[in-house]
Amino acid sequence: MTAQTILVTGCAGRIGARVARHLLEVGHRVTGFDLCASGIEHPAFREVIGGFDERAAAAEAVRGADAILHLGAFMSWLPTDRDRLFRANVEGTRILLEEAAAVRPARLVFASSGEVYPENMPDYQPLDEDHPLKPRSPYGLTKLIGEEMVRFFERTSGVPATTLRFSHTQDASELLDPGSFFSGPRFFLHPKIRQQEGFGNMEAAAMLRAVDDGTPALVLSRSELGRPFRMHITDTRDMVAGILLALQSENAAGRTYNLGATAPVDFAEALPLMARATGLPLKTVDLPGGGVFYETSNARIRAELGFEPEWTIERMIAEAAAARAGTA
Ligand code: NAD
Repeated sequence: MTAQTILVTGCAGRIGARVARHLLEVGHRVTGFDLCASGIEHPAFREVIGGFDERAAAAEAVRGADAILHLGAFMSWLPTDRDRLFRANVEGTRILLEEAAAVRPARLVFASSGEVYPENMPDYQPLDEDHPLKPRSPYGLTKLIGEEMVRFFERTSGVPATTLRFSHTQDASELLDPGSFFSGPRFFLHPKIRQQEGFGNMEAAAMLRAVDDGTPALVLSRSELGRPFRMHITDTRDMVAGILLALQSENAAGRTYNLGATAPVDFAEALPLMARATGLPLKTVDLPGGGVFYETSNARIRAELGFEPEWTIERMIAEAAAARAGTA
């Protein structure tokens, strides 16, 4: 691929930062656009700091772009963040796409989410790209509106676009970190209690408090019928590989793909590995409701673009454990 100028939104984030660094390493010029500074220092890196819904910043960001990777978004499931969520993901995407249409890049890739489906109440499994789109969270709704705006942008500007419905994604190093945004409340008892209180799920919080003896612990979450949670957790490095395939492949123009790990993670298998790696006790809690239990198919992106994820959850945990042992 000849050197291009590529706009990476969300370049201070988990996925965007890695994508931006990779593109710079292989010789492209990168414009980063984020509310926060990325810390990336490279002669071919230009950074625009601002909100996606600030028109002047968006116009400045798209300047000279040969391709746009719109990977930035605000992720929150807190009712108090609702206005900010729609400003960032809906209004911000609208303004960014309007400015993008004016510069007519050769390609656009948009980071959507499996939450457009809905993952926790699927009509059938594994969820494929033809599954009805019926988001259950406001965040998922912002992503579905984003997808529709991308389709409108593609239709009216003629710029080929690819929509990637991202799996849940983490850096391996976050898995064993109780302070991390995702793993803390997903796997660690005390952060999970605080999260459930923040959501106003007082019944769940009380059930979690019932197994709390005041010391740090991991928690194996199950449904009210005792079914352990199951979902995809994809390593950031595999997501970067998929995004680059979507950017570079002619086949990806106009297509929508689920992007994520091939196999879902069974919490009943992963949590004991995490307990061994951390030395923490493992508590099992049956939470109210049907819980999390889904499988998503990545067959289309594997068949059409040759995507092949490399990081299983076992590999991710082993790497996180080794890093932890090295710093202990
Ligand atoms: P992240 O939170 O690490 O990074 C997102 C970046 O977007 C942050 O640096 C943030 O500052 C920036 N941002 C947020 N609101 C902004 C605004 N209004 N203006 C400018 N910048 C703004 O997230 P990530 O894990 O790297 O996710 C990247 C993309 O993938 C996002 O679009 C996210 O919705 C999507 N996604 C992520 C997951 C996941 O599990 N990580 C799952 C599905 C979809």
